[in-house]
Amino acid sequence: MINNLVKKFSVKTHISNKNRIQYLEGLGIDVWHYRNKTKVHDDTESKIDDKFLEILRSEVAACKKCELHKSRTQTVFGIGSQYSELMIIGEAPGADEDRIGEPFVGKAGKLLNEMLFSINLLRKDVFITNILKCRPPKNRDPSNEEAELCSEYLNEQINRIKPKLVLALGRVAAQKLLSTTRSIGQLRGHIIQIDKFSIAMVATYHPAYLLRSPKEKSKSWEDLRLVRNFLNNQA
Ligand code: URA
Repeated sequence: MINNLVKKFSVKTHISNKNRIQYLEGLGIDVWHYRNKTKVHDDTESKIDDKFLEILRSEVAACKKCELHKSRTQTVFGIGSQYSELMIIGEAPGADEDRIGEPFVGKAGKLLNEMLFSINLLRKDVFITNILKCRPPKNRDPSNEEAELCSEYLNEQINRIKPKLVLALGRVAAQKLLSTTRSIGQLRGHIIQIDKFSIAMVATYHPAYLLRSPKEKSKSWEDLRLVRNFLNNQA
């Protein structure tokens, strides 16, 4: 009997948060809304940014600037929150990413998700992309020319999303972003400035490398703590 009453009561009082807010506002009660944890956005501005990124996504999908368009299954534009304060940049899509159309979906992607989780971030809260939007055959390194041609898209993504921090995964991403030939061992472990964007960057080992060399995970953990502290200090 009590159970039935509870059931009845809960069915009758089951209203969505949207309806609850409408009811309360209708009663003249001031409703406190949660603010977006990362950034507060002007709606009009957000819509323009949404549109811009969608247009850029279609441009990338139609890109034939280099030979990689001939061997790709599809382009891999990027995924996640365009309002994120953290942008993660890898090297280039691999076989899984080329098939699915999303960056970091294979084994390295699974490790990346765990790395993010270790600093209280979910994949959907950050924006993830790569230096190249197409898979190089046999996963070879991107050539300088490919990276240069593709940088137009990455630059647009960075300039629109305006992250507070970039996390570069691996040597290729870190070197291309900084136009340097310094090793990942030299680049990781501290906050660096990407001068051309005036944005801070942390470089760390690529998750695929960490799968092969798990001993280096502790160094990546130090880099992730740098990321966490940097973002906390921005709040
Ligand atoms: N490695 C990368 O650098 N990027 C991906 O998207 C997947 C694997």
